[in-house]
Amino acid sequence: MKIAVINAGSSSLKVKIFDMQRVCEPVSFLVEHIGEEGANFSNHSDALKSLALDFKALDMIGHRVVHGGERYKKATLINDEVVQNIEKLALLAPLHNPANVVGIEVARAMAPNVPQIAVFDTAFHTTMQKEAYLYALPMELYEKNHIRRYGFHGTSHAYLSKEAARLLGKKVEETTVISLHLGNGASVCAIKNGKSIDTSMGFTPLEGLIMGTRSGDIDPAIVLYLQKELQMSVEYVNDLLNHHSGLLGICQENDVREILKRSDDTAKLALDMMVRRIQKYIGSYMILLEDVDAIIFSGGIGEHSNIVREKILDNKILKSMKTLTIETNEELEIALECMRF
Ligand code: ADP
Repeated sequence: MKIAVINAGSSSLKVKIFDMQRVCEPVSFLVEHIGEEGANFSNHSDALKSLALDFKALDMIGHRVVHGGERYKKATLINDEVVQNIEKLALLAPLHNPANVVGIEVARAMAPNVPQIAVFDTAFHTTMQKEAYLYALPMELYEKNHIRRYGFHGTSHAYLSKEAARLLGKKVEETTVISLHLGNGASVCAIKNGKSIDTSMGFTPLEGLIMGTRSGDIDPAIVLYLQKELQMSVEYVNDLLNHHSGLLGICQENDVREILKRSDDTAKLALDMMVRRIQKYIGSYMILLEDVDAIIFSGGIGEHSNIVREKILDNKILKSMKTLTIETNEELEIALECMRF
């Protein structure tokens, strides 16, 4: 069984081909800067064609789709209606879903006879209950405008909880973990008996942890103040919170490797703030979950930085917890979802 996993971003295209019968690394392709000035490819279609993939040899294609809204609770066979629905959901994920749709359209045109599956970043979190996913806003904003917590990185958290269960020698339905996906984007997930019951990203990936360039949780009144008193436009504030805040905003650097090399106070402060926010989330999820089998570290920072892991665990209560460091593999999880399908 040969499965191609496609992850189409606004200016990038990542493709991995898995041979599911063999224990071997997938064949990987990455095209960046699509459509940018001076780039080799002006669109995703040309970029995909340039990879000269043998579509006839593929049994399935799995697509990463960021937002599945409330509708898509699991991997879904793509047809015209599904594509239209993913397009409609672009209202909730303007930075991601349109690019995902382009990837799907191009792959469908090039491989019309290969079944294609959409795997949604939000799907794993659709097991959250109302008390977890609703915001304390007037109910009609949820009912009419779909404003609620959706959560992201779901494919990663799902993979991590299964890997944790395997490493612990337990069934995933009986495994309760707190998973930390700490990359450029970062989120925490409370996973009870294999199901997401709460997560730190919300209506968008901006909420929760202090990330490379995203603020994570802030008082929403700050946004109003920036707009009203400091006369910042909506676009400016959006850019400020997503691309100029987080670690970058605090110490002018978003790469944790570089921050760890520095010895100045602001670099230390940025790390301390990031770690403290992570600890706050772990603490609150420990209360919600009651019995936690393990805390999982993953993502570029979680997988590679001993120092950050130690800082997070430098706490009387957390010291006694079992921890696992697991390399996440969203593409493999998408391929496995295709197999299950
Ligand atoms: P993305 O969210 O883009 O997939 P990754 O999961 O690859 O990102 O994580 C990227 C981040 O991981 C980098 O910004 C860097 O700060 C951090 N990182 C990678 N390797 C190390 C390391 N050895 N020590 C500390 N941080 C690291």
